Amino acid sequence: MVKRTEQDLTAAAVEQLADRLRIQYGTRVRAKEEAPAMHALAHLLDALGVQDHDAFLTQYSITLGYDVWLCFRPGTDQLAPIQQVKALGHEHEHVVIMQAEGAAAYGMLYATSPAWRAVCEARCYTVDLELHWLWTRATRGRGVVQRYDMAATLAPYGCRAGDCVAAQRVIDSAARVLRRGGVGTELAQRIGRWRGWL
Ligand SMILES: [Zn+2]
Repeated sequence: MVKRTEQDLTAAAVEQLADRLRIQYGTRVRAKEEAPAMHALAHLLDALGVQDHDAFLTQYSITLGYDVWLCFRPGTDQLAPIQQVKALGHEHEHVVIMQAEGAAAYGMLYATSPAWRAVCEARCYTVDLELHWLWTRATRGRGVVQRYDMAATLAPYGCRAGDCVAAQRVIDSAARVLRRGGVGTELAQRIGRWRGWL
């Protein structure tokens, strides 16, 4: 493995990653600010009690089917490149899960079951966790396993306490495997190989 520096991950590299993921997963990746429909959805999610209107627009990326709406433009300097990579990985894991479940079942489960939504998000945050570990290992020589508090992370997703406990188990299990050097998600493996982190 070649030693990488944090500067290796440039804005151009993030744009290239967005393009690669578009091609590999058949997604349309765009910034949320480009879409008036996202403002309407923000109102709907707020009304349903799923997520606060302003937080949805400015802090959260979202994936609907094969449409990935990011709360930033890939390659922007407003967000650290590694945060953009993690968001791209996270949102594409939603696509992977949708492909496994079937689009109709996925949409229904995500929208109507807080328990299912919690575990689904935990799987997607596992990609964030693994990418951060790969990146810190490649750039600092030692992988950092971030701690995710799923009760706090899932607070804006309308999940209940019991749902958060189940989600915590999923991500804690992934963290234990990661401490032994195991990267479980195909997305983190793919991105890691592409950047020379794996
Ligand atoms: Zn998510």
